Amino acid sequence: MALLITKKCINCDMCEPECPNDAIYMGDEIYEIDPNRCTECIGHYDKPTCQSVCPINNTIIIDPAHIESQDQLWDKFVLLHHADKI
Ligand code: SF4
Ligand code: SF4
Repeated sequence: MALLITKKCINCDMCEPECPNDAIYMGDEIYEIDPNRCTECIGHYDKPTCQSVCPINNTIIIDPAHIESQDQLWDKFVLLHHADKI
């Protein structure tokens, strides 16, 4: 699943530099997550690191519009980081 940043975001800048996939960027008002790049941190961390560093509870949630299986997330991880080896 890709994750989603909700309007509770206070633009504290903590999550953006921590994302291993460069999936987080500043949107029009708050930070946003590119669902094409978010792997839920699979292959990098045991749990989503943006959720770990966010100081506001439940600001970063599972995006109901982008539900993916573990296999799909792994495929995305490989495409993002090891496309030259496929
Ligand atoms: S879950 Fe991981 S890959 Fe997805 S936006 Fe957060 S830090 Fe980036
Ligand atoms: S860490 Fe949380 S509050 Fe800070 S910018 Fe990211 S989503 Fe917003």
